[in-house]
Amino acid sequence: MSKQPVFRFAPSPNGELHLGHAYSALVTDHLARLHKGRFLLRIEDVDGGRARPRFEQQIYDDLAWLGLQWEEPVWKQSEHMDNYASALDKLDQMGLLYPCFASRSEIANYNEKRDLDLPPTPDGYPVYPNIYRDFPKKEGLRRIEAGNPHTLRLNMPKAMQMAQQRVERIDFQERQSDGSYETIFEPPDAWGDVVLARKDTPTSYTLAVVVDDARQGVTHVTRGEDLYHATSLQRLLQVLLDLPEPLYFHHPLIVDMTGRKLAKSDDDVSLSTIRATGISPQELRAQLPPLLF
Ligand code: GLU
Repeated sequence: MSKQPVFRFAPSPNGELHLGHAYSALVTDHLARLHKGRFLLRIEDVDGGRARPRFEQQIYDDLAWLGLQWEEPVWKQSEHMDNYASALDKLDQMGLLYPCFASRSEIANYNEKRDLDLPPTPDGYPVYPNIYRDFPKKEGLRRIEAGNPHTLRLNMPKAMQMAQQRVERIDFQERQSDGSYETIFEPPDAWGDVVLARKDTPTSYTLAVVVDDARQGVTHVTRGEDLYHATSLQRLLQVLLDLPEPLYFHHPLIVDMTGRKLAKSDDDVSLSTIRATGISPQELRAQLPPLLF
């Protein structure tokens, strides 16, 4: 007997949900129903500096208003920090992590000074120029013990080498409009030596997502197109951590009238503002694009 499919909607409570989130939650719910699957809600609150209880409550209120139902208890990432720490530890034991003592501005200056013309990461940020990749271990430890601020970065070439010993190619399965799946290959090393942990946030978004999707038995990841490129990096971590591979569906984003992606800071499109106009959830649903293309 095959397992029941598991879908999840995973908002971060660091702002009000907007129309795009409503659409994403509805797409996920729709697909879960279509596949007779489970619908889970995950609160992605690892970033303690930005997550707020009132936004979390707003998520429950908005989703309930939309008519969605999810399983209890809700999975809150802040309650599972030990899982991310053990995943980090595993990567460390594999020799794949190193401490980096450079601040964001040092990294930017470094690139500028050396006139490094490195291609940006797939989400358009400057790629890390590997300043501390080969830094002497002993001196690194000394600095950590002395309390120097640092992040933990993934040694990408080593990670790729290790992953390629396990699988021939790190690719993923993306749902197409006709319901079939296409194999997508995007080289994960385009991300460079990514940060997997920092002092104030002991796990990166990517690591937490990968660990939780596995822990929660998620079989289908449905989310906005803005996270499409992040998938290659998540697949790399899944291979390294020996975690199962879910199927993916990155739905189109809802854009505003000028074609711009919606942001949590835009009050005019926040769900609570829209709800306050007296619109019904059915009317709102009718105004959104179809749930499947
Ligand atoms: N928490 C992420 C966000 O709100 C989504 C993570 C995911 O669906 O993988 O953008």
